[in-house]
Amino acid sequence: MPITVTPLSTVDDATNDVRLRTAKIVNEEILPREGDLFPQRRGTAVTEELKQKARDARAHVKDKVREAGLWAPHLPQEYGGMGLEFLPHAYMNEILAYAMGAASLFGVVAPNSGNQKILVKYGTEEQKQKWLVPLIEGTMESGFSMTEPDSAGSDPRSLKTTARKEGNEWVINGHKWFTSNGIEADFFIVMCRAEDPSGEEGRSGSMVQIIVPTDTPGLEIVRGIGIWGHHSSDHCEVLYKDVRVPVENALGRVGQGHEAAQERLGAGRIYHCMNSVGQMWRAFDLMVERAMTREVHGGLLRDKQFIQGFIADSYIDLQTSRMMTISAAEKVDRGDPDARTDISALKVYVPAAYSRVVDRAIQVWGAAGVSNDLPLAQMYLGARTLRLADGPDEVHRILIAKNVFRHYEQGASWDFAK
Ligand SMILES: Cc1cc2nc3c(=O)[nH]c(=O)nc-3n(C[C@H](O)[C@H](O)[C@H](O)COP(=O)(O)OP(=O)(O)OC[C@H]3O[C@@H](n4cnc5c(N)ncnc54)[C@H](O)[C@@H]3O)c2cc1C
Repeated sequence: MPITVTPLSTVDDATNDVRLRTAKIVNEEILPREGDLFPQRRGTAVTEELKQKARDARAHVKDKVREAGLWAPHLPQEYGGMGLEFLPHAYMNEILAYAMGAASLFGVVAPNSGNQKILVKYGTEEQKQKWLVPLIEGTMESGFSMTEPDSAGSDPRSLKTTARKEGNEWVINGHKWFTSNGIEADFFIVMCRAEDPSGEEGRSGSMVQIIVPTDTPGLEIVRGIGIWGHHSSDHCEVLYKDVRVPVENALGRVGQGHEAAQERLGAGRIYHCMNSVGQMWRAFDLMVERAMTREVHGGLLRDKQFIQGFIADSYIDLQTSRMMTISAAEKVDRGDPDARTDISALKVYVPAAYSRVVDRAIQVWGAAGVSNDLPLAQMYLGARTLRLADGPDEVHRILIAKNVFRHYEQGASWDFAK
């Protein structure tokens, strides 16, 4: 079923135009051939011939996307992107996400997309030429290496990996894991705690992000960690043992590492939630479609009150998630400092709502719901993972409560209408 997209009266013409053109490609070029484009996701035994067919099919769609001027919405035009503003990009995401994997056909592939944005903002001209340009051209791959097995990812201050400055080099020692895209990556952006006995690079213990080519001696990919019952994945465990890179590989100043990571995650959370909304939308359409056609016990599923309840509750989950995400995105766009609280609220609410909607859609489809013939099983695992990635629910709840109490301590109550 295609996604239904009509112009919104609440956004400008340019945003409506991006939404409609994105929907056209999703509906005409991607949804009818999802199985050909991404055969692995359908659990198909992938032969070389099928892989080549999929590469060709993806290249065809990417050409259409470029022709439509929709390539790399997250990047400035000078780097070959659309230069799309934050809010229209969020609106585009809900449509892109309707088809699982469609974002990659529009040049948005995590973690490369996040790294590209960080390189655009913090990179020197030399770093941009060396790392950003090949990343955009697709001749290089990258990863973001922050989380560690021996310290809590939800408390970045506990991070243990060190980068010690020795002469003109950083010497990195540490143990990371869940570095996504680790198998393919040509370089990682590694979050480290700086140690500089000379004091030239600022206060020791401050966070710094360092670009590390994956073929640097001392960098060892231990394994692709098996997740969700699969024996392996591209989320890698990585050891850094006396890994030496030039000092100019620091991305931004020492002390900016945490800020850069927060920036990456802050806007990213809105995008993730708009993606979740798009995927919920797809799950919802699938659920309704099945309820209208499947006969059980002498009637269609649509006539059973249990199923009507599923549809109604999913409608509510989807509408509330979408409204919350758009409201937070508008606050970010206006530079409202309270956006931080709303981002945390939706980061808790939306993945949970997404889980509920997909769970009901699976139930309505019965066995087919968990099969690889539909995208629902993949969505289900994705929704669950989102509740801990990019800041687990509990951390966001704590932040919401803290911000609320701060307002009341200052004698104000919370202005929900703002
Ligand atoms: C599929 C996937 C891909 C990922 N990709 C990347 C990547 O590319 N790069 C990267 O660096 N990382 C990546 N991560 C890691 C992810 O960012 C971390 O898992 C996340 O930040 C949580 O950190 P942690 O796993 O160390 O959990 P911990 O910090 O140990 O937290 C465990 C649990 O403790 C609870 N908790 C935490 N703090 C509190 C508190 N104050 N009060 C009460 N309860 C609390 C929460 O329930 C939390 O889930 C990925 C993870 C997954 C699953």
